[in-house]
Amino acid sequence: MWRETTKHDRNKKIFYEELDGFLPEKILDFHVHVFNEGVLPKDQPFHSGGPAITSYPFEELARDLDECFPGRENSAVCFGLPVVEGDHRRNNEYIAEGVDNKKFFGLRLLDPLRDDAESVRRDLEGGRLLGFKPYPVYPRKADENTVEIPEMLPDWAMDVANEFGALIMLHIPRAARLADPVNQRQLVDLCSSYPRARIVLAHIGRAYFYKNVVGNLDALRDLPNLYYDLAMVNNWEVMEYAFGKLDPRRILFGSDIPLALAPGKSVEINDQYTYVTPKPWKLSISDDHGKIRFTSFLYEELRAARKAVERLGLGREFVDGLFHGNGMRLLNDVQDDMKSLTAASALAK
Ligand SMILES: [Zn+2]
Repeated sequence: MWRETTKHDRNKKIFYEELDGFLPEKILDFHVHVFNEGVLPKDQPFHSGGPAITSYPFEELARDLDECFPGRENSAVCFGLPVVEGDHRRNNEYIAEGVDNKKFFGLRLLDPLRDDAESVRRDLEGGRLLGFKPYPVYPRKADENTVEIPEMLPDWAMDVANEFGALIMLHIPRAARLADPVNQRQLVDLCSSYPRARIVLAHIGRAYFYKNVVGNLDALRDLPNLYYDLAMVNNWEVMEYAFGKLDPRRILFGSDIPLALAPGKSVEINDQYTYVTPKPWKLSISDDHGKIRFTSFLYEELRAARKAVERLGLGREFVDGLFHGNGMRLLNDVQDDMKSLTAASALAK
């Protein structure tokens, strides 16, 4: 079994020795990919440090969350897997059917070429889906490093998001990530032009190494509708910097499950980062000599979070907010806005 959960004794030991005393009673994972069979093209299964998988259904997510966080009440914000050749409508429908807005909350994949204002509005109107998951692959540029945020989030989509107060889970493009000046400017524009939309900067803007984050949160920290998730960040220095800089109520725990269940770690080398995994993967350096015994990316993220929290002397309130309270408040605010909008439009009819 490739998943590094407490089903393996080595992970159970880590959980009870290092994480059990740190993690609160309730955990909301704000960044999870769920996809049913038939979404991915036959020749494009999902690869990570683990084997290729062709689906990751809600049942497996529920089981894996229980096995990663024994004794915790858990919940998750879920969205599909962004693949240009994938059946994104099938994936979005699966998400809409699988969420209950209690344990599982859902966002829809947003593909500017296949979607339009009417289709995205319809998905938000029922209140089943709470926002969008755009991705840098969807503008279909030969070089993804030239993608700009408005190409992932066109005005017609943002108008709808703004009207509904919807969530946007944003994985920013471009090689310099959080440090890119075009990204910096466009993030400020996006948040200020659409003040009712709630933007989540996934992976703290993909700043997986220290130099990428330093100095690059200053222009963003005062944007009241910008949130930050920790998904796949394994670097405690990045977290320590972010925790010290940002409004603590707008930092959200997220994992990037199923990827985060695989064995591996993201490491910083000479102002860059790479993943190290036991088996070859396109984004990693692999341990060909079998020297390292790995745990999951998820547990490495949690270890880093704990270390950053302890070094800064942050208390229970911070940890509870990070793992549950902040995300729940955000989800409640989005749902309240959606309900009042639906009530207002019913009155107008
Ligand atoms: Zn992700």
